[in-house]
Amino acid sequence: MRLVIISDIHANLEAFEATLRRIDEIKPDKILCLGDIIGYGPNPNECVKIVKNKVDISLAGNHEYGVLGRTDLQTFSENARIACEWTGDVLSDGSFSYIKGFPIGLVDEDIFLVHSTPINPERWGYILTTRDASHQFLGFSESVCLVGHSHLPVCFEEESGMCELTENNSLCLQKGKRYIINFGSVGQPRDYDPRASFGVIDTEERRVQLIRVTYDIERVQRKIIDNGLPLFLAERLKIGA
Ligand code: ZN
Repeated sequence: MRLVIISDIHANLEAFEATLRRIDEIKPDKILCLGDIIGYGPNPNECVKIVKNKVDISLAGNHEYGVLGRTDLQTFSENARIACEWTGDVLSDGSFSYIKGFPIGLVDEDIFLVHSTPINPERWGYILTTRDASHQFLGFSESVCLVGHSHLPVCFEEESGMCELTENNSLCLQKGKRYIINFGSVGQPRDYDPRASFGVIDTEERRVQLIRVTYDIERVQRKIIDNGLPLFLAERLKIGA
């Protein structure tokens, strides 16, 4: 089975549409979304609608929890909080009720899926280092856990630590080994590569691939500014940070 994994779309419609064009070529059996469809970007309703129509499973991220009032916005950075409040104001009733139903984590195709961390996911911690990862391997029993949240593509293998995950370097998951994988962010990459980022897993071949696609960043930047969202949220898209 071929699975496409997307995460952290962040209401960036142009990045999401470019990603979907590539996904159409891949023809996956399933599309899984690890949360943060909304927040930061100017098109939350449009992105939620596409997820509803095209994505097989979606989880809640901290931005869904923020808008739903389940996570205190005072724990967000200032720009995230401002964007989350703006999102709450513009989100349609239909989008609200749809995101309300998202689980915070689940197991599908024998893969553990969560936005932030397998242990205490509602604390919205980050898995950035081998040390963070080695603790989180205790939080699931499957051989693979997929996360988003940091917007940084990376793969952790339980025994050997961090391994590189780039678009030119498809990874083969070895039997008996365990992995935590992050395919980066569709709508707000932070690894200094501004292209949208997502992943493909072939469960038979056990092959994992990172894919990057270009999109019209200037158009999104203009919409962020026109909607009065923080300028920083437009600027960061250009540098991918
Ligand atoms: Zn995010």
